[in-house]
Amino acid sequence: MRVSVSTTPLLSALLCAAALMLSGCARQQEPVRQADIDLTVAADSSLTAKYVFLFIGDGMGLSHVAAAEAFLSAASDRVGNAELSFTRFAAGGLVSTFSADSYITCSAASGTAFATGYKTNNGMVCVGPQGQKYKSIAYILKDAGYRIGIATNVSIDHATPAVFYAVEENRDNFYAIARQLAPSGFDFFAGSGFLRPRGEDGKGESVFAQLEKEGYAVARTPAELKKIPASKKLILLQEESRNCSALVPAANRTGKDGWTLADFTRAGTVRLDVDNKGFFFMVEGGQIDWAGHANDAAGVICEVIDLAGSVEIAVEFYRKHPDETLLVVTADHATGGLSLGNAGIPYELKPELLKNGRGKDAEAGFGWTTGAHTGEPVPVYALGVGSERFMGRMDNTDIPKRILGAMGVRGQF
Ligand SMILES: [Zn+2]
Repeated sequence: MRVSVSTTPLLSALLCAAALMLSGCARQQEPVRQADIDLTVAADSSLTAKYVFLFIGDGMGLSHVAAAEAFLSAASDRVGNAELSFTRFAAGGLVSTFSADSYITCSAASGTAFATGYKTNNGMVCVGPQGQKYKSIAYILKDAGYRIGIATNVSIDHATPAVFYAVEENRDNFYAIARQLAPSGFDFFAGSGFLRPRGEDGKGESVFAQLEKEGYAVARTPAELKKIPASKKLILLQEESRNCSALVPAANRTGKDGWTLADFTRAGTVRLDVDNKGFFFMVEGGQIDWAGHANDAAGVICEVIDLAGSVEIAVEFYRKHPDETLLVVTADHATGGLSLGNAGIPYELKPELLKNGRGKDAEAGFGWTTGAHTGEPVPVYALGVGSERFMGRMDNTDIPKRILGAMGVRGQF
């Protein structure tokens, strides 16, 4: 999805659409190896998953996924759903997302449910409503001998990645969260950067000094990455001249964008698979949520398709290790109240109009009800060993229990 010209917002959307058709879309439309997919539902329940990918589309409700499929279909002049990598998965279900104190969750509370199997109040990272401290499955699996990777296309101290390595009362305590990253000892991290690497006042010990002490290498470019020995604990971050709070959004790429989520997914998969230990790799598409908050359908579509491209990398891994791999793709909540259809042009959806620029959501037939999150259940898709555990209706607190179950690892539940 790389094009080499400078962009205006209008041109960006055009380029995104063109790029989707040229690369993302083309990749999505590879012939489906149906035999692989069918086998997953009837997966032998005596097998246990040794390699687990958990993809979290932040803010990715069912309508966000459907918008991407409708757009890709319209791009080839058809009405319908052009499947994404993960919507081909035969196993799927619905996940309720409410938090302990609100039907409408935030990413910290929903992430805590995914990471620990416990509900908490909005804003809290692995701390319960009464101050209980919860252990994430990433630590449980590390203790059980697995390699652990955490990647996101936003800052690595943001709520969704944070719930897997930190315990903190307030998700906005970015420095306190970041200081818990290196002591985790996890093998691989990747994100845009740290929001407060030296604390709120800029006078704390640098997170980078701490990373070095704990034996982590930092790589900011592919050339730097190549030099790091496979055994070394690693964090990938954007170059210091770039935005520490996010990778370049999928809709705005120019070809000189630094890392993408797919780069992180590919690098993490290689690094975590260096020995025979098995791994748990969480990958977050963090900017679907941001496009949803901005009520930007073109942005949502580009980010969902970008996440699907990262999932495709895990699908390739699954094809090499079909009897040992589990992929789970889900969302922490939906954002924006996105609808396919609106009151202004009933019974019409023209996603192809989004090719002509942003801000055309209403004319294209999309609708939005809020700039915040919404409370309806979100989809979950699963492929591989244990995927049958993710069928039907479940709660977000069930996700880590089912992952550990598929891996044959006892949890704390
Ligand atoms: Zn949000």
